[in-house]
Amino acid sequence: MANILITGSNRGLGLEWVRQYAEAGWRVFATCRYPEEAVELAQLADRYRSVRLYRLDVTNVGQIVALAEELKETPIDILINNAGVYPEKFLPLNAPLNYEDWAYTFQVNTMAPLRLTKTFVESLACSEKRLVVAISSHMGSISEITSPGSYFYRSSKAALNAVMKGLSLELKPLGIGVLLLHPGWVRTRMGGIDAPLSAEESVRVMRERIAAFTLADTGRFFRYDGSEIRW
Ligand code: NDP
Repeated sequence: MANILITGSNRGLGLEWVRQYAEAGWRVFATCRYPEEAVELAQLADRYRSVRLYRLDVTNVGQIVALAEELKETPIDILINNAGVYPEKFLPLNAPLNYEDWAYTFQVNTMAPLRLTKTFVESLACSEKRLVVAISSHMGSISEITSPGSYFYRSSKAALNAVMKGLSLELKPLGIGVLLLHPGWVRTRMGGIDAPLSAEESVRVMRERIAAFTLADTGRFFRYDGSEIRW
């Protein structure tokens, strides 16, 4: 049985990753900040005995270390860095910047995926699939900026792309791949109700990308449908 570790799995795309991989027969290490409040995730864990719940705030170094200790010597075939935040509203040019929000956006969207990947590198290296997936966004593509705003989110995802591209070069000699994916515009709390894609469809199509992944694709940035995104 292959193993997958997912962050931010209590709702949105994270919950759907858990549902689909569990249904496909994977052992799922599903992490979230507050497992005691994650009702839908608990229901999935009741339904699929291969789903295990763990507490993980991705900004909490102590929790990352504790999780790594708990899963020590467990091969992790795929790590999905899914947790993300998008705290900002569009503000007028003269509005004060909330630097704490910006820093927190970087902690969750950029720094945590690097820390998690580094922490679990040995577990990835001893697995079969050996893949790190970073859920980025086309909003992190500088070439695709056609409107103002979302500065915190855009910069955090652009930085995530840069970090993961570099990491792909570092991990390739270990046979570990790094895949950057844009899930499309998806109906979740972040994506909102007007988004055209369901989480079910987005994750189903991204799973096809993941299944087809080879090291030749490491460090590349794709839309959920497989088209490549320029940096
Ligand atoms: P949601 O807002 O629905 O879910 C975000 C998830 O991230 C929640 O489970 C949330 O947990 C978790 N999270 C936030 N902060 C932390 C933290 N510090 N530690 C652990 N978990 C945390 O968003 P989506 O499901 O839509 O987003 C998933 C990913 O997809 C994100 O990386 C996002 O940037 C990306 N994305 C989404 C798009 C969309 O259209 N939906 C488009 C492009 C990219 P909690 O409930 O505890 O807050």
